[in-house]
Amino acid sequence: MLFDKYYNKYIVKGILRTNTPLHIGAGEDSFNPIQADKGVIVDHNGKPYIPGSSLKGVLRTNIEIMVNSGIGSKDSSKSCLIVNNPCLTKEQVDKIKNKYKHDDDKDLKTAQEIYEEMCDVCKIFGSNYFASKLSIRDSTLKGEKAYIQKRDGVAIDRETGTAADNKKYDYEQVAAGAEFNFYMTVDNLDDELVDLFKLIINILASGELQLGGKTTYGLGRVQLIDYEIYKITNQNLKQYLLEGLSDEMRWSYV
Ligand SMILES: [Zn+2]
Repeated sequence: MLFDKYYNKYIVKGILRTNTPLHIGAGEDSFNPIQADKGVIVDHNGKPYIPGSSLKGVLRTNIEIMVNSGIGSKDSSKSCLIVNNPCLTKEQVDKIKNKYKHDDDKDLKTAQEIYEEMCDVCKIFGSNYFASKLSIRDSTLKGEKAYIQKRDGVAIDRETGTAADNKKYDYEQVAAGAEFNFYMTVDNLDDELVDLFKLIINILASGELQLGGKTTYGLGRVQLIDYEIYKITNQNLKQYLLEGLSDEMRWSYV
């Protein structure tokens, strides 16, 4: 795959800055307010970080909404709602598999048709049937420390889900202005998906993306700043593997 004729790899490097305080609790992937974790998630060095999976999930949801509402994208982009209404059902996939089951190259044909049937967002972010082209590393803290603030929140009664009388708890948040190292790659991006890739970058750079818990209170606004985009192709792949990224590999799209 690596030396495939159509190989390409986009790399986006930059800084993800918190524009409002950020609360990503340990084990808060469920986003369940009742299961409120008090501490922010930290890495093995005890520093707060932003899990790549959380960022990717939020990014995907935002892209789905934007593409479906026609905001910021060409009419040609399509998106399903992967959780509630996926573009490909198991029945459709079984039908495609059945169609090619007697062919010699059934695996390739089946994979090709499944890929063609998927919506643009699934093609980039992955689905049950195809791996994601896009990956985001965990964003580690840039610099030695971040300011962690303790905040009062209203305690929630776990039995009833209502605010418990006179009970307060503290939760931690990373202060606004914290900077994290951002690194995202997209492999083998089809030409017709480049506009969607630009939309992904624009959303990251807009400062509108909200991560973690308590976003309804305005928390978790992050913005991609000071970023550079590189494009690796067959032409510069060898140089990239031997020497790493260089300015000649920069990709600009404005
Ligand atoms: Zn889809």
